[in-house]
Amino acid sequence: MVLQDLGRRISTALHDVTRAPNLDEKAFKAMLNEISHALLEADVNVRLVSKLSNSIKNQVNFKDLPPAVNKKRLIQKAVFDELVKLVDPHAEPFKPKKGKSNVIMFVGLQGAGKTTTCTKLARHYQARGFRACLVCADTFRAGAFDQLKQNAVKAKIPYYGSLTETDPAVVAREGVEKFKKERFEVIIVDTSGRHRQESALFQEMTDIQAAIKPDETIMVLDSSIGQQAESQAKAFKEAADFGAIIITKTDGHASGGGAISAVAATHTPIVFIGTGEHMLDFERFAPQQFVNKLLGMGDMAGLVEHVQSLKLDQKDTIKHIAEGIFTIRDLRDQLGNIMKMGPLSKISGMIPGMANMPGMDQMDNEESSAKLKRMIYICDSMTEKELDSDGKMFVENPTRVVRVARGSGASVREVEELLTQQRMMAGMAKKMGGNMKNMQRAQQAMGG
Ligand code: GDP
Repeated sequence: MVLQDLGRRISTALHDVTRAPNLDEKAFKAMLNEISHALLEADVNVRLVSKLSNSIKNQVNFKDLPPAVNKKRLIQKAVFDELVKLVDPHAEPFKPKKGKSNVIMFVGLQGAGKTTTCTKLARHYQARGFRACLVCADTFRAGAFDQLKQNAVKAKIPYYGSLTETDPAVVAREGVEKFKKERFEVIIVDTSGRHRQESALFQEMTDIQAAIKPDETIMVLDSSIGQQAESQAKAFKEAADFGAIIITKTDGHASGGGAISAVAATHTPIVFIGTGEHMLDFERFAPQQFVNKLLGMGDMAGLVEHVQSLKLDQKDTIKHIAEGIFTIRDLRDQLGNIMKMGPLSKISGMIPGMANMPGMDQMDNEESSAKLKRMIYICDSMTEKELDSDGKMFVENPTRVVRVARGSGASVREVEELLTQQRMMAGMAKKMGGNMKNMQRAQQAMGG
């Protein structure tokens, strides 16, 4: 069963029980049964499923609930919390440090997606300002170096490998030493896999680990291997103690439950998930968000809480829009509010469906926040009178534009762009304000 189906079944079970006219113990037990079945069919380990079911029962404790308690909310919360616990290893994943050489070694069976994922991870860090590179220590599979090279060239990531050296530990050491000397910050080492676990593979992994002393070892797990995931992860953990897991092929028609069980069995955090063959099909994993998404809920509660915690000042702007006005100061206040909200990627993950929208992962947070800052500097170089104006005085007297550009270190064109944006918003406010007035009039006419 695909993860999406699992999510749908659990949400339907939850929905049914919370809408039942008689929310009695029988309905509650039927819901627990349905959730357990769904998890088992998705290959989640039977021991974990029974633990989850018992924990929900204990949390809700149906018999002792006073009648006034809001049972529906309690049940929803218990199911949500236990699902989060199931995928939350309660361990912090490794974070590379800037200005230091962070060596990351990949392990996993052949075909799990190691080589593809290495490049995805290198690109991920590269896009966040790290100097990232790749080392191919897979001397077992013919063509492995070629594959890594092709991926690396496409993503413009420096790489190292050897067509003649047959000892993977030697290639790994040489590559890591070279890139350390060149002050690379994230050095990712791809190792070879085998079709199945075998002692030669484990010996090789230990040799490479001893040769390069990685700061982090990541296991790549194919989400389609089902029940075997748990034993595979345990065997790898014993041989090459890894600190994080990346689950690949979560886009395929596979049940992801096995991978979830593997996380629980090894108490290791999933750091990313692979969602396709393309370089950008790669998402950071967060337990709460994962369950939210699994159940199709987004994280609206989190979003509302986050926005409220920012104490955004909207009063004046809302009043202005109702009057059909939108001044440059209104634009300045709104820009400030956006800055307060934090990275767009964080916000988008909280809105149901938004994080999965095409192009969302390509939004560069640093670039857009630098742009916002420049717009704020432009506003801050204006006089009070200019800020409270509708922008017409800039059209009438273009020397004002030049003065503001000079004062803020921006170009004249950037100032003009900001003014165009404000004019556009003012046009919209005019229409909306008019509509609001009409609505108010209509309401009054109807005695509202
Ligand atoms: P390796 O042997 O572990 O290095 O595995 P590869 O990186 O060569 O990947 C094996 C196959 O899985 C390739 O065809 C990849 O394109 C594919 N693959 C890797 N990750 C994903 C993913 O997240 N989704 C899908 N659909 N395919 C993937």
